[in-house]
Amino acid sequence: MTEMLKVSDVSVAYGRMTAVRNVSLSIDNGSISVIVGPNGAGKSTILRAIAGGIKPSKGHIEFDGQTIVGRRPEDLAASGISLVPEGRHVFPTLTVRENLLVASHVVRDRAGSLNDMERLLQLFPRLRERFSQTAGKLSGGEQQMLVIARALMTRPRLLLVDEPSLGLAPKIVDEVYELLLELRRERGLTLLINEQTSKRVLKFAETVYVLRDGSIRLKGSAQQLRLGTALSDAYFGSV
Ligand code: ATP
Repeated sequence: MTEMLKVSDVSVAYGRMTAVRNVSLSIDNGSISVIVGPNGAGKSTILRAIAGGIKPSKGHIEFDGQTIVGRRPEDLAASGISLVPEGRHVFPTLTVRENLLVASHVVRDRAGSLNDMERLLQLFPRLRERFSQTAGKLSGGEQQMLVIARALMTRPRLLLVDEPSLGLAPKIVDEVYELLLELRRERGLTLLINEQTSKRVLKFAETVYVLRDGSIRLKGSAQQLRLGTALSDAYFGSV
């Protein structure tokens, strides 16, 4: 597999506080990788740095072999990187349809975007049912589907998803993950997902990174990590 994203030795600071320290990731085209780590470990900061929301204080980031540090989020979205931020930030007073179309300015192809939206509604039947309702009225699970669908409107090849299961009932989380897996199967989407807990992600991720206090403590295949205690040792701090 070819490498799509290469994060090399990246550090990110907020003022004097270094939130992420010397992090390296290698993400192959079409793969599913997960960053697992406790609250405050720096997971969101890494995704923000990749998507152009914050500039690293050190290190390199390459996408398709091109350096992307310093490029603006809109520009990176147009190149194929899309971030689904934590917290299901829908536009509550806009309808589902409007929430989806807001993202389409990145593509600058009105007819194509309407076509994309129609295809997405086939994948997200629940959003079709709610199409003309305001997003603030949707359930938590539906809002999570909507922010994922909205991110897909920019036609990404790399989708960064920040804690999709946060605050959702387990059954709904299963649905969200089934959808993410389907997106990868059908569209060859590359996924990098943040999660606080590892139980679910070990079932389907290929590569797992454990992040604690801003540093990667462990990288392994999910298959390896399902056995043994390496993951919990890294997560809870004995390595
Ligand atoms: P969470 O599960 O809470 O989202 P996380 O692993 O995603 O945690 P980050 O949100 O990346 O962690 O935060 C890493 C560290 O950076 C934390 O100590 C956090 O308080 C700090 N931090 C995050 N955003 C900012 C900011 N905008 N300004 C200052 N400090 C920040």
